[in-house]
Amino acid sequence: MTLFPKCPMCGGEVVTKQTERILRGGVNLATVTVTADVCLRCGERLYDPDTIRLFEQIRQKLNDQDVDEFEPLGRAFHVPA
Ligand SMILES: [Zn+2]
Repeated sequence: MTLFPKCPMCGGEVVTKQTERILRGGVNLATVTVTADVCLRCGERLYDPDTIRLFEQIRQKLNDQDVDEFEPLGRAFHVPA
């Protein structure tokens, strides 16, 4: 079941999928896999309020370096252009 019957951006059809999201807090990055509604036409991702709260909590922890409970996932790099 989807949160939105249609995409609020373009009116396209949405499907519920597992999606990976990259979050940044300070210099740290984390990836999290969450359920989102994804528009089949424009690719817009729609998250429910609980998921958005989760993103905020993760960002705050990244920002505070409070990452002990997170699983290390290689190294992140910045490539100067
Ligand atoms: Zn759309």
